[in-house]
Amino acid sequence: MPLADQLIAALIDILGPTGVIAPGPDMLPYLGEERGLFTGDALAVARPAKVDEVAATVRLCAQSGLPVFAQGGNTGLVGGGVPAGGVVLSTERLTRIREVDPLNLTMTVEAGVVLQAVQRAADDADCLFPLSLGAEGSCRIGGNIATNAGGMGVLRYGNTRELVLGLEVVLADGTVWNGLRGLRKDNTGYDLKQLFIGSEGTLGVITAAVLKLFPKPAARATALAGCPDLDHLMAVFARARTLSGDTLTAFEMMSRLAVELAVSHIPDVRDPLDSPYPFYALIELSSSRPGDPLDELLESVLGEAFEAGEVSDAVIAASGPQAAALWSLRESIPEAQTREGGSIKHDVSVPVSRVAHLVTRGVDLVTRAMPGIRPCPFGHVGDGNIHFNLTQPVDMDRTAFLARWEDMNRVIHDLVVDLGGSISAEHGIGRLKRDELTHYAPPVAIDLMRGVKRALDPNNIMNPGKILRIDGA
Ligand code: FAD
Ligand code: ZN
Repeated sequence: MPLADQLIAALIDILGPTGVIAPGPDMLPYLGEERGLFTGDALAVARPAKVDEVAATVRLCAQSGLPVFAQGGNTGLVGGGVPAGGVVLSTERLTRIREVDPLNLTMTVEAGVVLQAVQRAADDADCLFPLSLGAEGSCRIGGNIATNAGGMGVLRYGNTRELVLGLEVVLADGTVWNGLRGLRKDNTGYDLKQLFIGSEGTLGVITAAVLKLFPKPAARATALAGCPDLDHLMAVFARARTLSGDTLTAFEMMSRLAVELAVSHIPDVRDPLDSPYPFYALIELSSSRPGDPLDELLESVLGEAFEAGEVSDAVIAASGPQAAALWSLRESIPEAQTREGGSIKHDVSVPVSRVAHLVTRGVDLVTRAMPGIRPCPFGHVGDGNIHFNLTQPVDMDRTAFLARWEDMNRVIHDLVVDLGGSISAEHGIGRLKRDELTHYAPPVAIDLMRGVKRALDPNNIMNPGKILRIDGA
């Protein structure tokens, strides 16, 4: 029997026929990623439904010297889950919520549970799981953990890294590490789970996690404010942080172009303010205390900001649907940008105090490098994280524009690094930024990362070619 057929037969032995997809049309969704920047190939897709099946699959691959490409919802934006031969290990059948413990404020879930289902299960127990991002209807919690996903609630609740108390992981030789502890204090040696969080499938396959829950918000206030420039918008952020303390949950920024694109391309999205403004802040306060007068608090923040000339106009949502409409304006920007044509993306962060400088200087530099380019920055400025995306000039050919991806990266990434920032704030490295990481990270850091990789995956079978090149591969 040819090797590929032997592999499929061996996988069917472990997983049953529904657990295996052989090459053919059904495999296509697992071979590429949403933006079409990367495509790959695989000998098979394995769909284990239990941790033991994951372990047996990885053991089989290890024994056969085949690479394993873990995949969750495949919504990642850096080509991290795209295979190059070997076996795609999809977590889509690992969908059990094993336990919810409201007193301990934790839940134990399997890696393939879709983020939105995690949020709903928490809600059903009268709790909040605060991770929230545009892809929440299709990304899976294992993918969120493997990428240390950020999103809208980081300002208040932290990145995924801060939301994970324990992990279960299948290691590169098929051994299961059970680190499913629901402890807020645990100083027993190295914190192993942190190695796997954000490791993008290169160190092991995450099969389950203990997640932190929070009291469910009982009051919420949401506003959209138009600002004359970014310095003033950041002053509103500082004001909101001081006046609203721990109720400040999100502080998002949108440039005028981002709002225009969302309004013109996405049905039912509208700009609620009467005039256009160069920048907009989307502000959300929330509290678990029922009846907390958050609207009044937000009004006083905006009133003071208006007096100080930081805000030109603002609207506070009067109902849940109005708040949802403000959020859909923000959340539809990536899709709107895609519909407008080519978009060169930068997911970067700098200290909050340097956000305004980054955007002003960055716009200046890219405009000089390519007259007619349309910078479209937006993002989580409360975390110092900007999606500094560049929309193609109106008359330019899309392919010719995208061919300038690396030039534009160099302009923005040099500036970001100069300002003490990071070239990957929340989406990770994957394939897309692998060479950028090597270009900017200190050699000592790269050596340490390679050392960790070799210790955990000596034969380089876990998602090879992602984050780092190992031995040229
Ligand atoms: P996948 O894309 O399947 O995989 C991502 C990486 O994790 C790959 O390297 C893969 O090998 C690895 N991996 C997946 N599952 C496992 C596992 N069980 N064990 C080990 N490794 C694994 N990201 C943000 O951080 N913040 C945002 O605000 C945000 N917004 C987005 C909005 C849209 C519209 C889209 C399309 C994407 C957005 N993303 C965002 C990116 C993406 O949704 C996140 O990176 C998400 O965490 C990926 O989850 P996934 O299940 O789709 O993972
Ligand atoms: Zn984001």
